[in-house]
Amino acid sequence: MPKVDIAIVGAGIVGLAHAYLVARSGQTVAVIERNPAALGASIRNFGMVWPIGQPAGAMHQLALRSRELWIEMLTEAQLPCLATGSLHAAYREDEAAVGEEFSQRAPSLGYDCAWLSPAEAISRSDALRIEGLVGALWSPTELTVDPRQIVRSLPRFLDERYGVQFHFNCAVQRIEHLSVQSPNLRLVANAIIVASGDDFQTLFPECFRNSHLTRCKLQMMRTASQPAGWQLGPSLAFGLTFNHYPTFQICTALKALKERIAQEMPDFERWGIHVMVSQMPSGELTIGDSHEYGLEVDIFDKPEVNRLILDYAKTYLRVPKMEIAEQWHGVYAKHPEHPYLRCLPAEGVRVVIVTSGIGMTISFGLAEQTLREMGVVP
Ligand SMILES: Cc1cc2nc3c(=O)[nH]c(=O)nc-3n(C[C@H](O)[C@H](O)[C@H](O)COP(=O)(O)OP(=O)(O)OC[C@H]3O[C@@H](n4cnc5c(N)ncnc54)[C@H](O)[C@@H]3O)c2cc1C
Repeated sequence: MPKVDIAIVGAGIVGLAHAYLVARSGQTVAVIERNPAALGASIRNFGMVWPIGQPAGAMHQLALRSRELWIEMLTEAQLPCLATGSLHAAYREDEAAVGEEFSQRAPSLGYDCAWLSPAEAISRSDALRIEGLVGALWSPTELTVDPRQIVRSLPRFLDERYGVQFHFNCAVQRIEHLSVQSPNLRLVANAIIVASGDDFQTLFPECFRNSHLTRCKLQMMRTASQPAGWQLGPSLAFGLTFNHYPTFQICTALKALKERIAQEMPDFERWGIHVMVSQMPSGELTIGDSHEYGLEVDIFDKPEVNRLILDYAKTYLRVPKMEIAEQWHGVYAKHPEHPYLRCLPAEGVRVVIVTSGIGMTISFGLAEQTLREMGVVP
């Protein structure tokens, strides 16, 4: 039976991040993926590496470390990334109150950010409408990659540069005595990492039986390419996003904003909508998103949800082409409290699941932590 140092189940970003770090430490790696290519959350997301969405302390530090590792990998693999930073634009006084309070408190907590006047914000992104703009929270830290390109090109790079073996079309049905078993592949490894995303039912379901794990469905859209030379600049978020990420819970001004949103925007609350916009290195804008929770993911998308997202975006954006070229939804594993879960179901086996919408942001940092704990990397 073929043998490798580390076998990884799942070629989404969590599996690929582990594969990269193991491979560059000089050990042999095999990645086993059930589909012809990874088709899960990792190809369906915004491609945002978004440290500002992480609460102060361990999670923010993890995101920053992950960002460093992303840059090392992207540089080595010669894959493009837009290091544009982010703007949270405020069009209401209560939104500005949160952004401004955060900008005062956050630097001492390790965030690099500043509150900008409307003119300063527009000078960073003329995609923002100036009418009604009260100010914006600027952070230089956020990156955008094209998730389609990462999921397709990173395996090729890992194979060519480090000889990582990829076994696509192999659904792993069983892991026993450090052997990975699928109908068309068997291999043994010194250690195995399971990075199976929102499939927490096939391998080691006993780890999650009483864990309150569920799923989150998000609706997303992409415009056609913008005219050559036009640039969004920083990725954009708006007032609703202050209410979404736990980062901003340190702000006393958040309570009033939450109350106003609940009162004025019940449909946005109902579908968990907050609006973000990022630009792909190839020019298109990605626009989302909504959050619907539950194990039974509705396979049918709701036009109403996309309409709410787009109408909100159009209120504040000044973009040459807003026609939507693609619509889709994605699903990630969701835990009510923990942003990720790791468990050790058998000797030498780790299951690693990001259980919130931050897998692009933390994947490389999380992989480093896991592999250190396992003694696989220094
Ligand atoms: C719409 C959307 C937008 C998002 N935006 C962002 C963002 O901008 N920034 C951010 O940080 N995060 C974002 N996220 C979250 C992020 O995409 C996920 O946290 C991350 O992609 C999870 O990666 P993963 O590798 O664990 O899962 P996946 O990408 O789902 O990969 C798991 C892989 O494992 C394979 N697999 C499962 N079981 C088996 C088996 N038994 N045998 C073989 N293969 C198996 C699957 O086929 C799949 O390819 C977003 C998520 C969604 C859905």
